[in-house]
Amino acid sequence: MGTAMLGAEAAKAMKERLKDEAQDLKKKGVSPCLAIVRAGAREDDLSYERGAKKRMEMIGIETRSIELPADITQELLEEEFRKVNEDAAIHGILLLRPLPEGLDEKRLKEMIDPRKDVDCMSEVNMAKVFAGDESGYAPCTAEAVVELVDSYGISLEGKRAVVIGRSMVVGRPLSMLLVKRNATVTICHTKTVGLEKICREAEILIAAAGKAKMVTADMVGEGAVVVDVGIHVDKSGSLCGDVDYETVEKRASFISPVPRGVGSVTTSVLAEHVLEAARKLNEM
Ligand code: NAD
Repeated sequence: MGTAMLGAEAAKAMKERLKDEAQDLKKKGVSPCLAIVRAGAREDDLSYERGAKKRMEMIGIETRSIELPADITQELLEEEFRKVNEDAAIHGILLLRPLPEGLDEKRLKEMIDPRKDVDCMSEVNMAKVFAGDESGYAPCTAEAVVELVDSYGISLEGKRAVVIGRSMVVGRPLSMLLVKRNATVTICHTKTVGLEKICREAEILIAAAGKAKMVTADMVGEGAVVVDVGIHVDKSGSLCGDVDYETVEKRASFISPVPRGVGSVTTSVLAEHVLEAARKLNEM
């Protein structure tokens, strides 16, 4: 039976260090602040925003919510975004995505100051992830996967890692972070031939396909580490991931559950990025 990789454990280990950093910044006259920009009120956005605010408060980071109507015009959205982008008291910006239909995220990606881009919307930060340059900000979820694996003392060096999913939010940047850590990475997607066999050969298998319970026990090698990034609501209204946990845990050495896995580390990574941004913007 695989050991459950609990995000709360990794988050707890990060918390004290981040609290100290926030304290230190405040002593030096900088009050770290994250702006959360939301258009509309989708339930999953609201839930993520609540979690992010709670985590920031716990660490000592101020938050400002910019709540905009779902039917806001592109022009007004850009105007509001520009204000946040130019506000010297704000160090990090989190735009809740996807935006409501009709609004263009691309324009905001071009506008955001890369120094405040704590969840890697901009091409500047994404290019840095691909170049293995750690001076930018990787997408929080992708980095949370690496943090979670690290917190359980699992080495990535030289390991065969398979990532299911090639989105620019999770799969691709995550694959680059794994390469940076010297794993040998295979990226799978909807056109991959022989997915099951490739997955079975993985020592570290990461599911970020957005398909509920698609990773079954026959796709997992004995003793593999399985990390589940997917989030879904099943027929009974409960949360589940991309991995069929009940059957896969029998083969895995470590397995992250959904909920209480990767998602619980994501907001800690976000907090870490805001503190780094506050430091750098103030040339500390
Ligand atoms: P996406 O839909 O943009 O991308 C999914 C990727 O998986 C695509 O590249 C696609 O080619 C691949 N894929 C889909 N079905 C497949 C299949 N049957 N076989 C092989 N590859 C397949 O999704 P995303 O934004 O990358 O998110 C992935 C999942 O992670 C979703 O469930 C999402 O809700 C979740 N997510 C979680 C967090 C978190 O904090 N834990 C954050 C972001 C996204």
